[in-house]
Amino acid sequence: SMKLPRRTLLVLCGPAGSGKSTFAARYFSAIPTMVVSSDYCRAMICDDPTNQQVNRDTFDVFHYIIRKRLFNGRFTVADSTALHAEARRKLWELAFHFGYLKCLVVFNVSLATCLERDRLRERQVGSQVIEYHIRLLQKALQEIPAEQWDRVYVLNEDDMEATIEIDP
Ligand code: ATP
Ligand code: MG
Repeated sequence: SMKLPRRTLLVLCGPAGSGKSTFAARYFSAIPTMVVSSDYCRAMICDDPTNQQVNRDTFDVFHYIIRKRLFNGRFTVADSTALHAEARRKLWELAFHFGYLKCLVVFNVSLATCLERDRLRERQVGSQVIEYHIRLLQKALQEIPAEQWDRVYVLNEDDMEATIEIDP
């Protein structure tokens, strides 16, 4: 169960196909704008949520929107893979700058499950990318304890149920 203050940045972290966006859509369906998605930012600037040529601009937009939300005191979910320490550090620092609770949700999902879920969806990332993401996930799980998150929730694939309450 996650009981979170209004001023929380909830950072999702996990491989492609691990269920981040599904989790976000499920738990934040009441106010979907709480979820800021890097894929959506990518699509907004180039009409293609898979175009890797626009990474820099995508993350500029992603961080810019998150910054504006935190400035406005809004509860925010950052939906990106956040598998690189540098990506997590940027989000951590945004939350720190605005005095936000820094929360990380790690999607600890196996390679087999990510591949299976990827296979069943419309837009596929492919096995090479997912294998790379799984290696980054293992590295992230080792690095995260030293990163000074206020809270870390590690979700396992057979137990992704959560109760999320945001203080009024
Ligand atoms: P990406 O990083 O590529 O955006 P993601 O982590 O956001 O991936 P989703 O798009 O949420 O992953 O999920 C990938 C596929 O897995 C979807 O088809 C979704 O329906 C399915 N899925 C997600 N979560 C679960 C779950 N808990 N159980 C079964 N299937 C799931
Ligand atoms: Mg997603």
